[in-house]
This record gives sequence, structure tokens and C-alpha cells, in this order.
Amino acid sequence: MSFSDLGLSDKVQQAVAAAGYTKPTPIQEQAIPHALQRRDVLGIAQTGTGKTAAFTLPMLTLLESGRARARMPRTLILEPTRELAAQVEDSFIKYGANHKLNVALIIGGVSFGDQDAKLTRGVDVLIATPGRLLDHFERGKLLLTGIEVLVIDEADRMLDMGFIPDIERICRMVPFTRQTLFFSATMPPEIQRLVDTFLHNPVKLEVARASSTASTITQRLVASGREQHDKREVLRNLIRGAVDLKNAIIFCNRKRDVAVVHRSLERHGFSVVALHGDMDQRSRTQALERFRSNDVQLLVASDVAARGLDIPDVSHVFNFDVPHHPEDYVHRIGRTGRAGRAGHTAMIVTSADAKALAAIESMTGQPIAWEGDPLDPNAEDEEPRRGGRGRDRRSRDGRGRDSGATGGKERGRRHEGESPKAADSPPRPHHSKPTTEKPASGRYERGDGRRGRHDDDGPSFVGFGDHVPAFVLQEVRLPKKATVADD
Ligand code: AMP
Repeated sequence: MSFSDLGLSDKVQQAVAAAGYTKPTPIQEQAIPHALQRRDVLGIAQTGTGKTAAFTLPMLTLLESGRARARMPRTLILEPTRELAAQVEDSFIKYGANHKLNVALIIGGVSFGDQDAKLTRGVDVLIATPGRLLDHFERGKLLLTGIEVLVIDEADRMLDMGFIPDIERICRMVPFTRQTLFFSATMPPEIQRLVDTFLHNPVKLEVARASSTASTITQRLVASGREQHDKREVLRNLIRGAVDLKNAIIFCNRKRDVAVVHRSLERHGFSVVALHGDMDQRSRTQALERFRSNDVQLLVASDVAARGLDIPDVSHVFNFDVPHHPEDYVHRIGRTGRAGRAGHTAMIVTSADAKALAAIESMTGQPIAWEGDPLDPNAEDEEPRRGGRGRDRRSRDGRGRDSGATGGKERGRRHEGESPKAADSPPRPHHSKPTTEKPASGRYERGDGRRGRHDDDGPSFVGFGDHVPAFVLQEVRLPKKATVADD
């Protein structure tokens, strides 16, 4: 099948040819004809499958008739992160080169003023993260009653990040008659419920997981001590010993570890940038650009920040931590070995990671080989040095409670436990003074001191969790008088 068989307009087909695509990918082949017939589409597909073009191309064709009105966007695309939103904007610019459409990006971390001005001019395609979109709505700057097509992209990542209540709210604000194109890599029950509630008789399409068993990727495990400094040393050795290392992404589970590993690699003379959710938008864009243009060789990133980023041709992926969710492993290693190229991945494993590793191997259906000596299984039962002088004493595996291998079900529970009010919280209050420098969306923006939605900080824990703070363990010297009295 070729692009000319799908019913796309001439302008769109020209742009596709200019992009150098000769053949639609399976998700494009399946989704585009239905989308053009204004059917609702449920696409179970992850990044790397060409799913962005699967919704962008038919939207461009449909948008050729009609025009935008002030403050009433015609189509709305919801993305979980600012980077993904920016990437979708790039796609509209690329594929919409022959169209005169107004595209607006509504994301956190940039000023409201420019975004307002764009909305006022009238927008054909509005690409937004949920929190910032609701901020504009609550400020009375936006009407969603003209939306003809709603795209919800990376829905399972929206779930991970606590955006589902916002998505539900937005779905209720757009016209009932709109067309919905919905994409998710996995279908946990919460996502299925969303689909059942908000999609009308959708066409369900599923494409194979892009990278679960990509034979072009060499996967290895590397044993390490549990301490963070042990792991950093192992990482340095891995990078130095890697064959044909062109560039690499290093994944950490938590934002703070991204920052620590980045600083440490910098100190050791590596060419490296970091990408995590707490960085301001400019730094994130700059870091990504430097990595994309090969100005730096290494990118240290969290899952949330890196999810879905289109960075072609990465030769190596290093997992500094074993991911909490096995599907994150698949996403991480899918950053390399793209389009049939050779890719290499190595994951640092400590004795605390046995369960998480087993979950990954059971999900991918293949054991992963060890590089060097495998982990000593006897070390698995070793108790942490509670209150000892180790550098990372937060918990058994350094991640706080409830860590380890968790499937979709466990993730859902963790989420509920983490933010019990999230699901039934009232609409967010109007921000009298917008906090323009706060992260994209979510509770970070509330300014109420509660934990943000970006979950790459690992699960939350009650009180101190398993971590015994150093000050509690410090010997207390009582004043002389008291000591005498006690005696
Ligand atoms: P996505 O899954 O949307 O993130 O797309 C992954 C990559 O595939 C992007 O770099 C796209 O530019 C590229 N791509 C999308 N469609 C095609 C196609 N039909 N042929 C070749 N590459 C494509």
C-alpha cells in the first residue's frame, strides 16, 4: 500500500513525499482511512511506530476546509509532556508545509502572553499539555466548543503522570460530536474506562510493540553494589568500555539521580547533558538540541522527560537503574536499534533489583545475558544497613517504599495511594497570578506544596518511609546537669 491509497489530500501527499516517506507504516495504513471518515480511533501503538503522522496527516486533510475563529481552536491534541507537544508541533510544521494553518503550542514553562496572542488570532491546531490548557480555560482565554477533532496521545503516560482527571474534564468540555483519536501503548483498566466513556464506537487498531524483541539490540546486564557511588563507577566503566559508542542515553528512575549522575559524569570529563522534569523549558530544549546535533555525546534522562522523544540513531542506552515498570524498559531500549540499525543496551543491576528484573524478563519473554560476573544471588537477602553510614539509605533499593517490579495494576494502586485526592479533587482554582515558570502542568502549578505529578521521582512514602535520617541516629549529648540527674 502507498500513501496515495489512503485518501489523503494532494497537499498532504506532497509533504509526505518531501519528508522522504515512501510507504505508510502499519499504524498509518490502518488509522488514516478511518480518521478521514471521521471515525473515532483507538490506536494501541507506541512511539517509533509512526503514530504521530497517523493522526497529523488526516487532520491536515480534514482541516483544508473551514477556517479558525478567535479563541475557538478547531482541533486539540493533548500530550503528556512539553517535549512531546513540541515534537508534534514540528510534525505539523513539516507535514503542513503546503497549508496555511495556525498552530499553537500551549505548554507550561513559557509565558502566557504569547500563547494568549496566538489564541486570539484563531487557531486551527492547538497542541497542549493538560494543566496549561486548563489554566488558559480558567482564565477565560479559550473556548473549546469549536473543537472538531480531539487527539489524546500517550494516554498511558498521562495516567502515570496523574493527568486522567484533567483529561476527563477536558473531554467533557469539548463538543459531544467531535471526533476522537486516542493513542496508548498499553491498555490498563483506567485507560479502558476512559475509552469506554469518551469514544464513540471506535475502530480499534493495534500494532506490534516496536522494540520488545528487536533483534538488532544487544541487551546486557551488569552487576553492581547497591550504593550510588558503586553504580556511578560501573556506569563510567561501561561508557569507557563501550564499543562503537557514538552517543548514548543514560536512564535514571528519579529526577534527582539524573542531576547527580549528570554532575558526576561532567566532573569525570564526559561530554554530557541532562533532561528531567524540574528543568526549565529553555534548558530542556537546549539540552535536547545539543544532544540531537551531536554537540554532546551523552544524555542523562528520566523516563518522563525522555518518553516519546524522537532522537534517531542512538548507539547505546544505559540503564543506571532498573525501571520500576517493565514496560519502561521496553521504551528505554527502544531508543536504540531503530530502523534496523544495531543498538546496544546495558542495565546496571543490584541485589535490590531481583524482582524488577524478573518482571522485565517475563514481559520481554527472554532472559538478558550478563556482561562479566552475574550478580551474587546470595546478596539478594542481604538487609540494608539500616541507619548505617551508606550514601543511599533511603530504602532497601534506594527508591523508597513500594518500589520494585510493578505491573499496570500495581502502578494504578501506587498512583491512588500517592495522590488520594487527585481523582476527586475539585476543579483547580483560578490562578489570579499565573506562575509562568512552573513545570508544564499538574499539581506543581498549584503552589500548595503538594507533590507534583511527574512521577519520575519514584513512589512517595509515608513519613520517613524506610529511610532513617542521619540526624535521628546522631548521638545526642545531653547537658551535664541532665546526665547527672539520669544517673
Ligand atoms: P513516531 O512514532 O510518530 O514518533 O515516529 C517515529 C519516526 O518515524 C519519526 O522520526 C518519523 O519522522 C518517522 N516516520 C513516520 N512515518 C514514517 C514513514 N511512513 N516512513 C518512514 N519514517 C516515518
